[in-house]
Amino acid sequence: MQPRQIPYNIGMSRPAIYLDCNATSPLDPRVAAVLNQAFGAAWGNPASQHRAGQQARRALERAREEMTELLGADCSSRQADRLVLTSGATEANNLALFGLAGSRPGTIIISSVEHPSIAGPAAALERSGCKVHRLRVSAEGVIDLDHLRELLSPEVRLVSVILGNNETGVIQPLAAAAALCASAGVPLHTDAVQAVGKIPVDFRRLGVAALTFNGHKLHGPRGMGGLLIRADVSLDPLLFGGFQQGGLRPGTESVELALGLCSALRLAQEELEARRRHMQQLRDRLENRLREGWPELVVLGAGARRLPHTSQVAFPGLDRQALVLALDLAGVVCSTGSACASGSTDPSPTLLAMGCQRGVVEGAVRFSLGAFHEAAEVDEAARRILAVVNDLRDHSGGRNLPAAARSAGHDSL
Ligand code: PLP
Repeated sequence: MQPRQIPYNIGMSRPAIYLDCNATSPLDPRVAAVLNQAFGAAWGNPASQHRAGQQARRALERAREEMTELLGADCSSRQADRLVLTSGATEANNLALFGLAGSRPGTIIISSVEHPSIAGPAAALERSGCKVHRLRVSAEGVIDLDHLRELLSPEVRLVSVILGNNETGVIQPLAAAAALCASAGVPLHTDAVQAVGKIPVDFRRLGVAALTFNGHKLHGPRGMGGLLIRADVSLDPLLFGGFQQGGLRPGTESVELALGLCSALRLAQEELEARRRHMQQLRDRLENRLREGWPELVVLGAGARRLPHTSQVAFPGLDRQALVLALDLAGVVCSTGSACASGSTDPSPTLLAMGCQRGVVEGAVRFSLGAFHEAAEVDEAARRILAVVNDLRDHSGGRNLPAAARSAGHDSL
């Protein structure tokens, strides 16, 4: 794996250090080249019968098959697993919940640490009469398998558990959950968006019935993702009005984005081990530097298995919103948690489910790395972060943004 020049400079006079790859990651230039080429070549409508259409269809189906294989699904038998391409993971998660749970009222189980794109459709199902159970998690954010065992019953239509948490990076014991679900005859879906390309993910080995992934968390294009479905599982569509993708997701497929997604996934899988090691080293380096400068630092989920690129840390006593803004001014880009919940000032449901104390919830920010960060960037980020947090603590009780940002020495102030 060759670290590549990625434009992290987002318009400041000094390059900002982008540590928010769980929100979105910069496009790998190699994927950009594939996209450019595809926009020029594969523009026929893959549903058209003429040669331009057939050419686009062949490229699309090749990409679909390769992605299915890269994710460890079974493409060899006549009853092959299917990959439904979607506009991204939010759509794929909605398709999984509504499409696998069915339209009749029933019961579903989700974990209490799901991304809003699972928690939201689950709440919508609840409003329409479905019973929704939310699995307890430990203080480290790991699902309680005994609770799952208690909740499983013949009425349960679907269980959905995130593979690697988008806020804390905590990895769930999915294979164990899948075994419990299989013995109860209940399909298990997993949102694997943050895990694919970061840790080995093998669809068949995990034992799940369906899996969500997308492109823009793995240096691929936005606007494309997919739901992988095991051959024996039936799914109802969310959309109607076309025969594309077997009627499961009608609408003209974006061949270009599918080729881009396939290229990002191929690179992520080929470079998986090197990327995983690299990101984990950098994450540990960042956490160590921060702990040295701020001994009260709390690393969320530190005692659990975590994704290598995600670090959610709390600076108890500081205010997370003020901190993110001050860090932005100081040239460190991070977030308070899920980008899909960033309009909200509500505390993170994930941290509340973990039973974190108020000071931890209030003072928690997330740093997330990509495959191409370098140690020097992480060191500089740690320096800027410590300057900001120390200033916030010393001068303003956590709320004086400009002073904190100035103390980090950002040129644009
Ligand atoms: N699931 C998880 C775990 C995520 O982190 C995200 C992105 O923030 C999504 C789903 C939604 O992905 P998309 O932006 O492709 O809709």
